[in-house]
Amino acid sequence: MRILLTLALQGLAVLSAIAVERPNVVLFLVDDMGWQDTSVPFWKEKTLANQHFRTPNMERLAKQGRKFTNAHACAVCTPSRVSIMTGLNAARHGTTNWTLRGETSGKTPRLEAPEEWKRQGLQPGPHKTLPERLRDDFGYRTIHAGKAHWGGVDTAGAAPLQLGYDVNIGGHAAGAPGHYHGQQNFGKKENSVWDVPGLDIYHGTETHLTEATTTEAIKAVADAVRAEKPFFLNLAHYAVHTPLQAHPRYLANYEGKTYPGTDIKIPQAEAIYASMIEGMDASLGHVLDSLDQLGIAEDTLVLFASDNGGLSYHSRKKTPRGTGRDTHCWPLREGKGSAYDGGTRIPMIVAWAKVDRRNMHQQRNPIMSASKTNAPVLVEDFYPTILHWAAGVSQENLGVDGVDLTLAILVANPDPRPLVFHYPHQWTGKPRGGYQPHSSIRQDGWKAIYFYENSQWELYHVDQDIGETTNLAKSEPAHLAKLATALRNRLMTLTAHWPTNRQTGQPEPLKLP
Ligand code: CA
Repeated sequence: MRILLTLALQGLAVLSAIAVERPNVVLFLVDDMGWQDTSVPFWKEKTLANQHFRTPNMERLAKQGRKFTNAHACAVCTPSRVSIMTGLNAARHGTTNWTLRGETSGKTPRLEAPEEWKRQGLQPGPHKTLPERLRDDFGYRTIHAGKAHWGGVDTAGAAPLQLGYDVNIGGHAAGAPGHYHGQQNFGKKENSVWDVPGLDIYHGTETHLTEATTTEAIKAVADAVRAEKPFFLNLAHYAVHTPLQAHPRYLANYEGKTYPGTDIKIPQAEAIYASMIEGMDASLGHVLDSLDQLGIAEDTLVLFASDNGGLSYHSRKKTPRGTGRDTHCWPLREGKGSAYDGGTRIPMIVAWAKVDRRNMHQQRNPIMSASKTNAPVLVEDFYPTILHWAAGVSQENLGVDGVDLTLAILVANPDPRPLVFHYPHQWTGKPRGGYQPHSSIRQDGWKAIYFYENSQWELYHVDQDIGETTNLAKSEPAHLAKLATALRNRLMTLTAHWPTNRQTGQPEPLKLP
């Protein structure tokens, strides 16, 4: 380990010194993909879900590189996407909930969203986005493909080209497609905000949106290679967000069958969902193969992630364990939109697109094949990590909240640092469980959650109780007090906005236990 550490640190020094030769970067971001929606096990054991889903290309990527088993995003799409673009925590960038038409977000019986939250979403401004830095400071061709969902309808931030991208393939304000099928023109309707833009050549064809997005992204990459420019590809699939519509090529693998290892028939909605997962995975394989054919796979870093936990609150059906709603992320509790780990824990893999130990970039940054780490990760960490690997920029010079993951990728778990989450909104439905306004902190294997509606704290030893089944708030008051104070202090530093009392119109800050 000591030798590895030395090698890695030498590599970092060399990386910082180079200015010309730059690796390409692909951020492969799946929408709403749960921690268990893959044949790659991210838990200590292979689950029935891991046996059900087919993701051979994720397996391939994991064999080539580093699997992160304790990676997290915000509980819903937009705050995660803005964190990736800015390197800022959601409590600081203030786009704490989804955006389309300046939503007010759901109200609870007592509370509504903070007055000041950024309903317009991400807008062009003085803080440089990740693609702006890569393009303007380091000469990268910046390509966005798929779902953008940064700024609301009729705002500048709705357009990826206004936020630092040279190329935009299918991205705009909406957080979901009108339809996934080319035969349906991807849902094109007059004046529809859900109409996926710019993919008209696929209208009326049997092309799935995941395939159309991938094909166009690869064309844009080939253009960058021809222009001899390093590129950053943000391949942010609309899949596997609702509407759940089959990827027909893969549906037969699930339709009418039973879940592997069980006698439970796969419900049609779950067969459709699994086909969307497999289609997404095929896109990953298509990208890896294309990079190889272009002769640049060795020079290309791939980061695979999801933008929040897996959907389980609605639209989903019986799981391989015979359970229903709120259990699709098992062993995690709840799903997308929740304070519990089902809402935030995401699959994540970092690897070179093709392993070649003689490659200059890989000699500098040798990612150990088939390795894994439980280092804590938040999506805002991608920004400083990508800028370090692409251009040798030090995190301290970026003015961001995210942390450079280089040591976690190359060597070992760095000192655990707290992860802070802030979601002062009601995502959907009625306030219950974790689907309500909350803030939380995880550190040293523990997690404390504050629910604003009833001013209640919960405490879990998540390292030993990954399903957050046993609330230790009363039995471990010292642990709770320590985490609660750390959370409040961090949120104050981040200038977090508090939910508003509906009767008084006043903000309701977090209260210590
Ligand atoms: Ca999402």
